[in-house]
This record gives sequence, C-alpha cells and structure tokens, in this order.
Amino acid sequence: SSIFQDIELAPPDAIFSLTARYKDDRSPQKVNLGVGAYRDDSGKPWVLPVVRKAEKIISSDPTLDHEYLPILGLKSFRDASAKLILGSNNRVIKEKRVVTAQTISGTGANHLGAIFLSKFYQQKVFLVSKPTWANHKPIFDTVGFDVREYIYYNPKTLGLDIDGLLNSLKSAPNGSIVLLHACAHNPTGVDPNHEQWKAIADVMEAKGHFPFFDCAYQGFASGDIDRDAWSIRYFVDRGFELLVCQSYAKNFGLYGQRAGCLTIVLRNSETATKVESQVAKLQRAEISNPPLHGARIVNLILNDPMLYAEWIDNLQIMSSRIKEMRKRLFEKLVELGTPGNWNHIVDQIGMFSYTGLNASQAQVLQEKYHVYLTSNGRVSMAGLTTSNVEYFAKAIDDVVR
Ligand code: PLP
Repeated sequence: SSIFQDIELAPPDAIFSLTARYKDDRSPQKVNLGVGAYRDDSGKPWVLPVVRKAEKIISSDPTLDHEYLPILGLKSFRDASAKLILGSNNRVIKEKRVVTAQTISGTGANHLGAIFLSKFYQQKVFLVSKPTWANHKPIFDTVGFDVREYIYYNPKTLGLDIDGLLNSLKSAPNGSIVLLHACAHNPTGVDPNHEQWKAIADVMEAKGHFPFFDCAYQGFASGDIDRDAWSIRYFVDRGFELLVCQSYAKNFGLYGQRAGCLTIVLRNSETATKVESQVAKLQRAEISNPPLHGARIVNLILNDPMLYAEWIDNLQIMSSRIKEMRKRLFEKLVELGTPGNWNHIVDQIGMFSYTGLNASQAQVLQEKYHVYLTSNGRVSMAGLTTSNVEYFAKAIDDVVR
C-alpha cells in the first residue's frame, strides 16, 4: 500500500480534455473552438514572422550563453515590459515607483502577485469576476485567499451587468483584492467601456479595494497597444497602488516559452525598493530565476524600433483576422435567419466569445457536428477560418432551432 493511497482522483482539466477529444475525432469536418491559442486561416499555429527574425538574430550571436538570469529576470526585458504596459512616459516609471519581475508567463505573474499579497496585504478576500479564466480561482485558492465572485456578465443581455458589478464591489469587505481583466475578458469577450471603468474605479477607491490587473491580451485584442492598456493606465493615473500581470503568450505567440512579467506600482520609491527586495526573495524560493529564451526574444523586439514596428504589424494581422471571423459568423447567422440576436458576436472583443449557447447545445455541436467548444458556450474565434465559419454558423442555426 502507499502513503498516498487515499488520495482522491482529481478531475481532468476541462479545456485540455476537450482538446484530447478533438484530437481523437476522425471526422474531416471537425472544428476546435476550445483552445485559447491563435490559429491562422488554415487552422495552424502561427509563429510570428518577427519572432522568427528575432530567433535568427539570437541564434547567430556568439556572445549569448545559457547562464542563469538574475532572480528578477532580464533587466532590459523587465524595463521594456513596464513601459509597454504603463506607457513609456508614465511618471510612475520616472519616479521609480514601479517594481517589475520576470515571471513564468501570465500564470506565474498571477501566482507571484498572489503570494506577495498573501504575505504583505491584510485583507484575505479576493474577488474574481463571474465567470473568469478557469485558472484564477485555483491559483488564488492555493495561496490561501478567500476567493469570492463579483457579478460581471448578464446572461439575458449577453453583455456586462454593470449595476450588479458595482453592487458586488460595494457589498464586499473594505480593502478586498479585485481581479480585473485589463482587456478582452476571458471567457466572455465583454469589456467595460471607459465610463464603466470610471465607475468601477470610483467604487474601488471609496471601498479601499486593491486592483489586481490581469493582462493576457495587450495588442492582441484590438491591435492597439495603448487602447488595450487603457484601463490599467487610467487606474495608475488616479493614484491607485496596484499590480499587473503581463503575458507574452498570445501577443508574441510564445505560448510554451513562458515569458511574462509582474509589475507592482507603488506610491513612493522607498517602498518600491523594499517591495522589490521581497518579491525577489519570494521568486528565489519559488523558481530561483526565470527562463531565458522567450524573454530574450521579447526583449530584442521591444527594444528595437524596426522589430517593434514589425511586431505591431503582426499583432494587427492576428487581431484583424479574429475580427473578420466575428463579422463573417455574425453575417452568416443573420443571413440564415437564425433565431435570436447575434450582435454580441461582433460587439465582444478578443479571442473568446460567449455565444449564449448552453451546455446541451454545446454537446449536440460536438456529437452531431464535431465542433468542440466548452460547455459554457465559449468559443475561441481563432479556431474559425474562412473554410469552416459557414459550417459552424449552420451548425449553430440547427442547434438553436
Ligand atoms: N490570464 C488570462 C485571463 C488568460 O486568459 C490567460 C491565458 O489564457 C492567462 C492569464 C495566462 O496564460 P499564460 O500563463 O499562458 O501566459
């Protein structure tokens, strides 16, 4: 017998097991709308041309070795990341009130940010949107927070429930930590507009809540770096101390390289110095030092004006293909006279769309049409192509009738 004999079997990860079922499906018509990774119009993973270029430069540089990075990561990459997310002229950078650590992509940033708060922040209530990215709750649970949900999405309007959201924030204990998706909310694709962000900031300020921004889609959502970071910069301008998680998985297509950053904005530089030393201590105990290759690629691109311009171009290719798929799906549904209102398909932003399809409809899509989406009706727009979007629209049309 084993010491761990009585351990319970953990359920498989919903998204990864969906992908496994998709892979086993032999139908030539199968469509994978579960995966949260960009695909090109032939349904293939896309290595950004600018990333290929950067890799070539790196591999031909004889001065580069494979030594450990410092505990907090590659300095020029960290600095460029802070500038990217906060805006290069942000006064908090000039005033040295910013701490940035290189992390294991966005997940690691969430985790390191959570460990930091669990050690140095009083309030243990951690609010996440209902719904949210499937990994948020497990990450904050693991670190010991009391994770609760705030109202976010209105299933009737298929849009934001701003009143519900503000009321949840008002009724939470003062000083709660609030997870905010900076842009392209996962899984709904529904973002607050600027007015609504202002109202959220007002309540957060009045209640003394702490903003924990998660930004996994900067530039990938709209094609515009500044637009996608608007919410974060707005909160910074209002004087909040806050924390931001950055992922370079989607916007550089560096999924497996695990490049990301955690940035903490403080009210003064003395505190920033102390916070940085503590973040380094936590990072040391957790991973010793972060991985090299992805950070090198991003570093090169963010710090070279020509490569940077090319990256922005690559971002626009991805974001506009996704917007085009939204448009085509919407037009097809309208053309078919599919019952219901489908405006949300084009109103939502980013890779994901909450279609409004329910679990049993998702099931039929899978069994009858070999279309794979999660049971909450979320589809990844990146899985649609010019050759399968019509097939998907017809399948939806059938299951909702
Ligand atoms: N946060 C959100 C909201 C996400 O959607 C994702 C990825 O899907 C992540 C964080 C982190 O992903 P990664 O760890 O691959 O950067």
